[in-house]
Amino acid sequence: MNQKKKLALVTGASRGIGAATALQLARDGFYVFVNFTSNASKAREVLDQIQAAGGQGELCGFNVAQPDLVDEKLELIAKSHGPLDALVNNAGVTIDSLLIRMKNEDLDRTLDVDLKGAIYCTRAAAKQMMRARSGSIIQISSVVGESGNAGQSAYSAAKAGLIGFSKSVAKELASRHVRVNVITPGFIGTDMTAALTEAQKEAILRTVPMGTFGSADDVASLASFLASEASRYITGQVIGVNGGMYM
Ligand code: NAP
Repeated sequence: MNQKKKLALVTGASRGIGAATALQLARDGFYVFVNFTSNASKAREVLDQIQAAGGQGELCGFNVAQPDLVDEKLELIAKSHGPLDALVNNAGVTIDSLLIRMKNEDLDRTLDVDLKGAIYCTRAAAKQMMRARSGSIIQISSVVGESGNAGQSAYSAAKAGLIGFSKSVAKELASRHVRVNVITPGFIGTDMTAALTEAQKEAILRTVPMGTFGSADDVASLASFLASEASRYITGQVIGVNGGMYM
């Protein structure tokens, strides 16, 4: 029998956690849509790595914060390849500041990309998955959406919002066998955390019982499990990958 190839879209897959997740899903046998917004050459490198490892996929550039574009791109995927089997909402930005110095445009951008972007992609993917009566949606939130963090109130609001959103959607979609789960990474070594000073990194490490930063692969391996049939009875869950930083 000619079995349909499993399809996965990973947003923000040009770097960091998204790149590691795209690679892992390709190793798991998914045809992976590698999303990015500005960094096409980095996304191309990720696709080259996927193909070098014997996997398959294609580039799929769009800004997750533009709902019309999100709908258009996901419909295009469905028309040309069929419904998505997995969506990983990983695209994110951090614009840190104390509340009293927070600029409106920074608050808007953070909510637009980190929260509304994930909502737009989830909505577009859910339509296809509900029709197919199958699918797994994985949200990359953050430990600070659970614990809070001084200087990251906008980012924490977006990431906490993503948790509430996902639990509601998990309830809406469960009867159609579409699962929605949330990963809350702690501090993971990527471009996002490379911007921290040595003093900031040392202060953070003192709050991590395991005493080290995590790697993008630590998050990718959980995403891989949540995208697979091995997690078929798991939905609406928030799972930390944080070295014990928040329990
Ligand atoms: P990163 O290295 O900064 O990469 C961010 C990715 O998001 C890039 O691929 C970027 O694409 C993409 N992106 C940004 N805005 C986008 C938009 N509007 N539309 C589409 N793609 C967009 O980040 P990371 O550290 O891997 O983090 C990935 C996710 O994990 C984020 O949601 C982040 O909040 C979360 N997280 C990270 C950590 C950590 O310690 N690193 C901890 C907790 C949670 P371009 O390359 O094209 O710009």
